[in-house]
Amino acid sequence: GNAIFAAAGASVFETMSQLAHEHGAINLGQGFPEALEPPEVIEAAARALRDGPHQYPSAWGVPALRQAVAEANERFWGLATDPTREVLVTSGATEALAACFLGLLNAGDEVIVLQPAFDCYQAQIRRAGAVAVGVALSAPDWTLPRAALAAAITPRTRAIVLNTPMNPCGKVFDGPELDFIAELLIAHDLVAICDEVYEHLTFEDRAPLPLMTRPGVRARCLRIGSAGKTFSVTGWKIGYVSGDAALLAPVARAHQVTTFSTPPFLQTAVAHGLRLADGYFDGLRATLRTRRDLLSRGLTEAGFEVLGCQGTYFLLAGTDGAEDDVGFCRRLVEEAGVTAIPLSGFFTPAGRRPLVRFCFAKRLETLEGGIARLVAWR
Ligand code: PMP
Ligand code: GLN
Repeated sequence: GNAIFAAAGASVFETMSQLAHEHGAINLGQGFPEALEPPEVIEAAARALRDGPHQYPSAWGVPALRQAVAEANERFWGLATDPTREVLVTSGATEALAACFLGLLNAGDEVIVLQPAFDCYQAQIRRAGAVAVGVALSAPDWTLPRAALAAAITPRTRAIVLNTPMNPCGKVFDGPELDFIAELLIAHDLVAICDEVYEHLTFEDRAPLPLMTRPGVRARCLRIGSAGKTFSVTGWKIGYVSGDAALLAPVARAHQVTTFSTPPFLQTAVAHGLRLADGYFDGLRATLRTRRDLLSRGLTEAGFEVLGCQGTYFLLAGTDGAEDDVGFCRRLVEEAGVTAIPLSGFFTPAGRRPLVRFCFAKRLETLEGGIARLVAWR
């Protein structure tokens, strides 16, 4: 097989979920929500499945969803988007990311990735013929390392990947940090792949989150969203990319020759979801905020040092540091019956203090059960 994919190895998420299953553990590892799907969206999918159509939609996505994405960009972020040329529907954000890298990069290009980073970026970038250049953020504040970021730019740098809210560390980049990145894009003629799949899962007041909203960089940013996160349906794999028509066109070409299109009934249902009233979006944030606080208190009680979380549905916790994070997570499954994800699965520099990630998008009973096991194990 291909050496890049061989080096990437098995998915840490799938591996840990499999272990959870084998040990009857409470799975707070892989990021998938429990019982948070909005019933209106499920009903809209059932209706659309009954009514059809069932044939290939446009490779760009069904018109209703492209329209709904454009409206949501305006409604939540004040971003004007042309639904006919500036929205591309993909099979999840994972495919959106691959299409961006395949469509935009050439052999030898460099792409800056802020670490820790979601696992698919590095392998996708390398398989697109480019080099992933890591720039590490540091716990516990994960402040943008401005000097290191600027120093990582070379004449070969083509793009920066910016994930905000950031998996796994729960960071939301603030206005001055976004402005600093925007200025680099302009000064060095770069583009940004903005992974904003957790855009609606933030716990403070809504700040202008997309990098694309900053002055002068509208045409340099591709902004990626995911229905899996926004509507708690991770198995549906509906993603969407918004951006300037000229920048998006090569991405659409890459999409066209990989998946071409995405199931139309699910697209129709997601269009319905994006038009739900504010109550849905605010309610999801409030629910997750409560669960974050519950898990944070529980982990603290169980002796973990818990880091902050401004967005996503993940909490990082420090272990006592005596063993590496992979060994710790294995022991946690076997001895405590709880599954977490080791931070080293996220393209992290070696030699940092061991941290593990817990997902809090779960039923209250699941979280309470997990906490009880951890406290008893401590
Ligand atoms: N980016 C980040 C940061 C994620 O956490 C995820 C979810 N695993 C994805 C992209 C992929 O999203 P999707 O499930 O829509 O492919
Ligand atoms: N995004 C999810 C997480 O971070 C997992 C995605 C996957 O399993 N590929 O846990």
